[in-house]
Amino acid sequence: MKIKTGIGQDSHAFDNNGNKPLILGGIVFDNHKGLKANSDGDVIIHALINAIASVTGKNILGKKTDKLCKQGITDSSEYLKLALIDLDKWVIEHIAIAVECLNPKIIPKKHLIESKIANLVNTDINNVAITATTGEGLTSFGKGDGIQVFVIITVANYE
Ligand SMILES: [Zn+2]
Repeated sequence: MKIKTGIGQDSHAFDNNGNKPLILGGIVFDNHKGLKANSDGDVIIHALINAIASVTGKNILGKKTDKLCKQGITDSSEYLKLALIDLDKWVIEHIAIAVECLNPKIIPKKHLIESKIANLVNTDINNVAITATTGEGLTSFGKGDGIQVFVIITVANYE
């Protein structure tokens, strides 16, 4: 068995003028301003896609997703499907998600997001874990200007 570890990061600013909903890990946060992006701005899924890309060596966010955006596909879970195809025979063993923001509060929706992500990547919910921090307000994210996410993924190849 071989094991690989990937890391992905992404950040988006809140859109103070738009009326886009806030979507994190495929879950809609009602009554909260959304994030600036051409897509739905799902910063958790984007960081996950980057983590997968760091294992496969094939970037998804950028050229490929800009093309999909132009076709009207803004659902980030559609971009995630492309990354999963690249994973090929590598099996996801664990996804660790670290969120930094002042708002919204992530922990009340922790299990919802974990179960949604587990569903999207077809793994057990016990293989997905989210932590969240305000970072003591030291960064723009902790001050409430946006959200930053890091994802570490562990994958195994049993062939
Ligand atoms: Zn993004």
